Amino acid sequence: MTIIELIQTNQIIFLSLIFLLGLIVGSFLNVVIYRFPTILQRQWQDECCEYLSETEPAYKTPCQQTIGQREHSKFSLSYPNSTCPHCSHKIRFYENIPVISWLFLKGQCSSCQNTISIRYPLVELLTGFVSVVIGFYFGATILCLSLLILSWSLIAMSLIDYDTQLLPDDMTLPIMWLGLLISLFDWSLVYPEQALIGAIAGYLCLWTVFHIFKLATGKEGMGYGDFKLLALLGAWMGWQSLPMIILLSSLSGAVIGLSVKILKRQKESIPIPFGPYLSIAGFLALVWGKDITQAYYHFIGLSL
Ligand SMILES: [Zn+2]
Repeated sequence: MTIIELIQTNQIIFLSLIFLLGLIVGSFLNVVIYRFPTILQRQWQDECCEYLSETEPAYKTPCQQTIGQREHSKFSLSYPNSTCPHCSHKIRFYENIPVISWLFLKGQCSSCQNTISIRYPLVELLTGFVSVVIGFYFGATILCLSLLILSWSLIAMSLIDYDTQLLPDDMTLPIMWLGLLISLFDWSLVYPEQALIGAIAGYLCLWTVFHIFKLATGKEGMGYGDFKLLALLGAWMGWQSLPMIILLSSLSGAVIGLSVKILKRQKESIPIPFGPYLSIAGFLALVWGKDITQAYYHFIGLSL
């Protein structure tokens, strides 16, 4: 029996491996969530600087200096190595093992004893758990692999949106194109026309809501990133899933948003990112969509 056959036939081995894979990917997602917004911000600053130094003589020298400094201090997902934000202690490989290192270090930096956020192991555990759910429902298939990529991307995008109120095009658009591409093959949940209409309808329905809301109130209720995220979900899951995703995301947004408001006793409205709710709704619809529909029909007295 080959290793692949063993993984396909033994559910416990398969799910354990997928949990481990999820933990490792979660550790990488922590780096993406932490560094990607900074990389983008630096890119935008450099682009603005380049533009200003070309058009406004007064900005030329300071801008050239800034761009020069940037080239000396390169910053990417892989460089420099991870360090403690308090004391710059270089994190060694055995201090970087998902979850275990955090428990072993008791949530403290080994050098300066400052707290290491519990969010790092929680993101790793969440990624592991989400991966196991996908593995359990979709089995050892190529479809499972592609849905893992979708789920991991949703985790990274949600947390970046939560931290920065920003859903980067550099993430939403490639994953949306990937969803459309995958729909051309057998290992997709939907047919190409369902994916294509899903992407278009996903973008346009939030775009329409945004502009009606803006006309009526003069305020911007959400961002363009949200339209692209719903287009992404439409591309992966087809137009049929959009009503459920919109409903679930609005419900979870209303419940969580109101609870936070009441708990923190906020009077004025602060902007709440919608991306995490769309992602949660997308994941629920992906895995339990049929069950939720059936439960709903049962609830309103119709049976299928
Ligand atoms: Zn430290």
